Amino acid sequence: MSNLGAGLKTQSWDPSTLPKFEKSFYKEDPAVTARTAAEIEAFRAEKQMRVQGRDVPKPVITFDEAGFPSYVMNEVKAQGFSAPTAIQSQGWPMALSGRDVVGIAETGSGKTLTYCLPAIVHINAQPLLAPGDGPIVLVLAPTRELAVQIQQEVAKFGKSSRIRNTCVYGGVPKGPQVRDLARGVEVLIATPGRLIDMLESGKTNLRRVTYLVLDEADRMLDMGFEPQIRKILSQIRPDRQTCMWSATWPKEVRQLASDFQNDFIQVNIGSLELSANHNIQQIVEIMMDYDKRDRLIKHLEKVMDDKNSKCLIFTGTKRTADEITRFLRQDGWPCLAIHGDKQQNERDWVLNEFKTGKSPIMVATDVASRGIDVRNITHVINFDYPNNSEDYVHRIGRTGRGGELLLLSSLQMMPSRLRIFSLS
Ligand code: ADP
Ligand code: MG
Repeated sequence: MSNLGAGLKTQSWDPSTLPKFEKSFYKEDPAVTARTAAEIEAFRAEKQMRVQGRDVPKPVITFDEAGFPSYVMNEVKAQGFSAPTAIQSQGWPMALSGRDVVGIAETGSGKTLTYCLPAIVHINAQPLLAPGDGPIVLVLAPTRELAVQIQQEVAKFGKSSRIRNTCVYGGVPKGPQVRDLARGVEVLIATPGRLIDMLESGKTNLRRVTYLVLDEADRMLDMGFEPQIRKILSQIRPDRQTCMWSATWPKEVRQLASDFQNDFIQVNIGSLELSANHNIQQIVEIMMDYDKRDRLIKHLEKVMDDKNSKCLIFTGTKRTADEITRFLRQDGWPCLAIHGDKQQNERDWVLNEFKTGKSPIMVATDVASRGIDVRNITHVINFDYPNNSEDYVHRIGRTGRGGELLLLSSLQMMPSRLRIFSLS
């Protein structure tokens, strides 16, 4: 792993010889211009929005004010969304203006669309791809599941402008991905390891990338992708636009932002401190390890009494995930497991069975906790407490509003850790 990327050539960039490109597209709507500083302040306060940096544009309040071309807007309206989410209100003007952006907002707040729609505008303003050209937009994401989900959004909103995309991630054969790359794609969504592999083997190149997105940057760093990310970023022209989107803002991510972004502007939605979604009821039970399975069954009996319940159970290790799944299935529960040792097609299938409610109980390691958009999860059970507080907050983010989160903790747990979130 440590040698990964050793075959990449060091790039030296001479700005005077690089082809010029356009990255600033934002035209403020007259309705936005007309808003007073006090009105903007009130709007930001209401949305718990904080901005930082030089010349941050004003937020937009409606979809129309963002000024997207009608072919993009039609798709957005077709989704039936009533208004931009907070991160979209502020993130669209920021990203459309061509600036480097950091956007922090909780899971499920609509960050994907925040960077996807400006990406489409960006692509449509660039010269067409020539044979042999790599992508114009590169999105780096931590996991295959997340990459696939991003691809679905890009496909939906990019369809009307015939934007081609592909997704490149490990654990599956390279052939189809290589063929897509050879045909040419405007948008490439990739996990870092497989992308480096493709770059080293010359299947694609990043010379045309002018809009770069790091999605779930915090997660990528947690997963140890930092060296790969740095290698990839060094292959991209430095005057590109770089946007980072994340649910948390730990110091490692700050460092990455300051190393790879120029004069960036930032928006945070919600508290700057790590904070859990307070609409979720959290219950903690402390017990001996060997009592956890019995308690789990007791809870499931209650939870699954309601036909609409959808329950996600987190375990600390892949092994526990498999053991618990076997245990529950033997007890007759409709339960499937998802974790990093499963084949990609099996993971896709399991996730789909869970999404559609055919298998309403899913056991998962933290691979499944971030970024993945499963609607209507009513209960999350932490069979094991997560390794760190960020993961805990993400797990909470997996339950819909008004959901319930249950923590079965063994006595070995440090109680001080449990108090961080003043769990009830
Ligand atoms: P995040 O990346 O912040 O975790 P996603 O981009 O995955 O969140 O979005 C979560 C869900 O919200 C998706 O199903 C998406 O289609 C939906 N969504 C996006 N924008 C809006 C909006 N303006 N109004 C309502 N729902 C939205
Ligand atoms: Mg996301």
